Amino acid sequence: MNDCLFCRIVQKTIPAKIVHEDDRTLAFDDINPQAPVHTLIIPKQHVSAVQACCDQDPDLLGLLLITCTNVAKQKGLTESGYRIVTNTGRDAGQTVFHLHFHVLGGRRMGWPPG
Ligand code: AMP
Ligand code: ZN
Repeated sequence: MNDCLFCRIVQKTIPAKIVHEDDRTLAFDDINPQAPVHTLIIPKQHVSAVQACCDQDPDLLGLLLITCTNVAKQKGLTESGYRIVTNTGRDAGQTVFHLHFHVLGGRRMGWPPG
């Protein structure tokens, strides 16, 4: 999708600090980090959010979570811990409607989230 920001990052027409790439997933650092490590993991194919992915390509969800854990390992978070978040829809504050998992780490996280 040409009007989708993250599709344009996949196509490399918008720059990003890519930290992992394979056939189906891409990971890049968030432009506005909320923690010392804040990386986004996305499918290369356009899918709007987690429910659509469940409906259209459920196997992709497992691949995305594997990439999340590999990125966490690459960023040195495996021992200290990290948070994986996906915002879905208005109440969760989703702003980019191309499925993405946030991997956040490098500091203590609060709970409940804001
Ligand atoms: P969400 O609010 O869950 O939809 O998350 C969207 C995330 O995308 C936010 O954390 C933004 O900081 C991040 N973001 C927006 N534009 C870019 C960009 N060009 N490169 C990297 N991250 C971005
Ligand atoms: Zn997209």
